[in-house]
Amino acid sequence: MADSTPSSPQTLDRYIRQIRYAPLGQAGQERLAAGKVLVCGCGALGSMLANILVRAGVGLVRIVDRDFVETNNLQRQTLFNEEDVAAQLPKAIAAAEKLRKINSQVAIEPIVADVNHTNIETLCDGVDAIVDGTDNFETRFLVNDFAVDRGLPWVYGGCLGAEGQTMTILPGETACLRCLMNECPPPGTMPTCDTAGILAPIVGVIASIQAIEAIKILSGHREAISRHLTVVELWDSCIRQVNIASLRDHVDCPACKRREFPWLAGREGSRSAVLCGRNAVQLTHSGLSLSLEQLARQLEGVGQVTRNPFLLRLKVDQYELTVFPDGRAIVGGTSDVAAARTLYAKYIGH
Ligand SMILES: [Zn+2]
Repeated sequence: MADSTPSSPQTLDRYIRQIRYAPLGQAGQERLAAGKVLVCGCGALGSMLANILVRAGVGLVRIVDRDFVETNNLQRQTLFNEEDVAAQLPKAIAAAEKLRKINSQVAIEPIVADVNHTNIETLCDGVDAIVDGTDNFETRFLVNDFAVDRGLPWVYGGCLGAEGQTMTILPGETACLRCLMNECPPPGTMPTCDTAGILAPIVGVIASIQAIEAIKILSGHREAISRHLTVVELWDSCIRQVNIASLRDHVDCPACKRREFPWLAGREGSRSAVLCGRNAVQLTHSGLSLSLEQLARQLEGVGQVTRNPFLLRLKVDQYELTVFPDGRAIVGGTSDVAAARTLYAKYIGH
């Protein structure tokens, strides 16, 4: 019978092509097998990150995502298919199903949740690094706060249109996201994939750079980690490397220098968010535990109700409310937070 312990020769055999790459080698592969990573957000970037890191043999890949699979995701979110859309699966669950078939030797932990200051510590429990698959700066600033506070490496990545950027943050050693951007851009001030669109190839480029950076961190090769902000624009065929090696020394960074972490403390960040790329609003409620079965009974006759073990969906008028057991909801059909709150109060309560 095949031995499935991570460091056995049988296990390493499947990684022979990457072990043969001398800077990684067998020792690096064994460290990867002991490594644990959080893929924060499993949309376009997160799908590709999780795919690469699971195939590469990282010991544990935890995936957290707040959303469910939709048809317009399939153009760029490479782990999903039409069956996932039909089954109304949360992205973390759909991703884990595929990834377990790709590499059964990796521990894969899907978590359906919105990352916020109340759960980030639990979500990051035991991990050696975080890779950014989110689509918003509010979550990234929270991740940056947590990572800098705890000395946890993380790899920032973002894409829009045909352009993307990425940088690796080694707290205490390299510049952090707040060294680069002092303030979180307020909602509505930045283009989103809703307004600017997004092409799949840029996702592949940025996620691949993020993934190799994570592999360097997890395999113990910090010396190889990029000290640049990498900006890629594929339509104009342009790649820029901005040297940020000395940025940390020149900026009075609120996070690295003054050790102020307002996102982690919950002083910054909202309980509602207009979702990138869709006419939808997310509402979060802490401390709730809903029975989807009971809720489905309550909503009988109100509109069209469907549910699976992970979520309940109510279609009523032009709106679509997707409700999760923790009380969180994604209200589709509006980008008006007040209107979304009204619909939630009307149909779900609280
Ligand atoms: Zn900083």
